[in-house]
Amino acid sequence: MRLGGLEAGGTKMVLSVGDENGEIFATTSIPTGRPEDTVPQMVKWFAVRNIEALGIGTFGPVDVNPDSQTYGSLLETPKPGWAHFNLLSAFKNGIEDKETGEYIKGLKVPMKIDTDVNGSCLGEMTFGTAKGLSSVLYLTVGTGIGAGFSVDGKLAHGMLHPEAGHIRMLRHPKDKGESVCPFHPDCFEGLASGPSIEKRWGKKAVMLSDNDEVWEIESYYIAQALTDYIYIVSPQKIILGGGVMHQMKLFPLIREQVTRMLNGYLKTPELADMDSYIVPNSLDDNQGILGAMQLGYEAARKKESN
Ligand code: ADP
Ligand code: ZN
Repeated sequence: MRLGGLEAGGTKMVLSVGDENGEIFATTSIPTGRPEDTVPQMVKWFAVRNIEALGIGTFGPVDVNPDSQTYGSLLETPKPGWAHFNLLSAFKNGIEDKETGEYIKGLKVPMKIDTDVNGSCLGEMTFGTAKGLSSVLYLTVGTGIGAGFSVDGKLAHGMLHPEAGHIRMLRHPKDKGESVCPFHPDCFEGLASGPSIEKRWGKKAVMLSDNDEVWEIESYYIAQALTDYIYIVSPQKIILGGGVMHQMKLFPLIREQVTRMLNGYLKTPELADMDSYIVPNSLDDNQGILGAMQLGYEAARKKESN
């Protein structure tokens, strides 16, 4: 089946056409501008590619409840122009191209939208390191921090969707930095996202590879969050992605600290093998787009069974 996938990010949009076996036939990426500039280009890109279904994994917050009136809308995002813009409906019903005055018709195919992190979680569960597992947590540590997870084979949404990047942290004793989250003085994203590392140390995270203290503090926060997720979600595997996780030295530090924080309370075969329990993403950073296409596949199958 020809599937369209969109990974909608705050800085760039990745668009692909592929199939349900994880094959990618064509892919492109465009910078995320205002929706009226960016979205018509995307609808046009898919319109000539003969797709049979479309899946979208997007930055948030976003309404991902199919029964809601505003299903597919971005919510209170600070990204200019995007708050309350209905991304899904632009693909479904079409959108005007302000530049040419032309009305770009909607794509008449089954569609599904979810958070970017749920998309990545699904990608890893379908094609990657979490294949065959039913309870999996995917965490991204990049410009923002967020987690998507599946519990007993179902991606979790709840009342809106989880916002696991905003849980409260116990401060590292050496950390006198200020949170970059406008809402929370001590949240995970505020203290451990890429921009928070940059603010604390006055340098881009990638330039700080050799400064051990940076990674000691960073792994302390990530491990605290993972310990909470382990207790609450009980995942069979935890996958870490996002720009900051390109620092591979974080993995042993995180595993060690999680073990220390759990303090022997839980004893499972998974936790006994930390090297396969807390792992990097396994799909060359394609987990998001592959998961998005898989969301499209789910939409198509649902249509068939109706
Ligand atoms: P986004 O979250 O915007 O989708 P990324 O996941 O690539 O994008 O995250 C970008 C963040 O990750 C930036 O704050 C950047 O400084 C940081 N980052 C990117 N590459 C690295 C690296 N190799 N080491 C440490 N931090 C990195
Ligand atoms: Zn916060």
